[in-house]
Amino acid sequence: MSDTLPPCPECSSTYTYQVDALLNCPECGHEWSASAEGGDDTATVRDSVGNILSDGDTVTVIKDLKLKGSSTVVKVGTKVRGIRLVDGDHDIDCKVPGIGQMGLKSQFVKKVTE
Ligand SMILES: [Zn+2]
Repeated sequence: MSDTLPPCPECSSTYTYQVDALLNCPECGHEWSASAEGGDDTATVRDSVGNILSDGDTVTVIKDLKLKGSSTVVKVGTKVRGIRLVDGDHDIDCKVPGIGQMGLKSQFVKKVTE
């Protein structure tokens, strides 16, 4: 819980106030999303141990993942190359060897540094 709201990105006014998920500036009328702090548009996706993931990274699966609606299991230790970060519940889009295109959750993978 923080009482300190970020200053207006347009005019740097510190008299910003919050309405629901939006921050408002009374001086220039600018409105912006309270969650988009730091001026970075892209959400940072981190793996199970906090490494920042980016497109094209190689990861390994840290636990057996059962595919919904099938008996296929992505085994722990499976190496997945060339991941692509996407929005959503499964925030990694990738091609798993022997299985095919699927979505993974970043909390179930670990980045491999090659
Ligand atoms: Zn302003």
